[in-house]
Amino acid sequence: MTDYVDSNLAVDIDQIGKHATPGCINHPGRETTLRCNRCDGPICPDCARKTPVGYRCVGCVRQQQAIFDTAVWHDYVVAAVISFVLSGLAGALMVRLGWFVIFLAPTVAGIISEIIKRAIGRRRGKYLSYVAVGFMLLAGLFNLTMWGIIYLAIASTTLYARLRSVSI
Ligand SMILES: [Zn+2]
Ligand SMILES: [Zn+2]
Repeated sequence: MTDYVDSNLAVDIDQIGKHATPGCINHPGRETTLRCNRCDGPICPDCARKTPVGYRCVGCVRQQQAIFDTAVWHDYVVAAVISFVLSGLAGALMVRLGWFVIFLAPTVAGIISEIIKRAIGRRRGKYLSYVAVGFMLLAGLFNLTMWGIIYLAIASTTLYARLRSVSI
């Protein structure tokens, strides 16, 4: 009987402890009711980061970014070379087709983005889309005709969107 009462009391004290306003995990002096929705750690407004899925602590946000940033340095080189060479060739061929460029540019950019993704083993990098688009634009400098520029405008925005969709 005594045992029963004691264990009940222990549970109650434990519950009280849990429900007291906790301090921030980084600033123990600051009481906060805000919690990280991933690790459930108490966080003060300064440590809370708003993400598309709710408030998270700085540590959890960094961990998530590390998962989404798996590209190694040569992935950037591969993406740059593929984008420069393929887009340069495609652009040079397509200016001969005139207005067909408008229909073909998104397809070509889609193919280039798919080749890049496969070549780098579908790893993800924060700056991969910028590098690929940058080198696509660089190749376009050799092809500054009217249709060349139109091709470049359509292809670069498509490539950017396609590569971003696998980034964060
Ligand atoms: Zn967290
Ligand atoms: Zn804090």
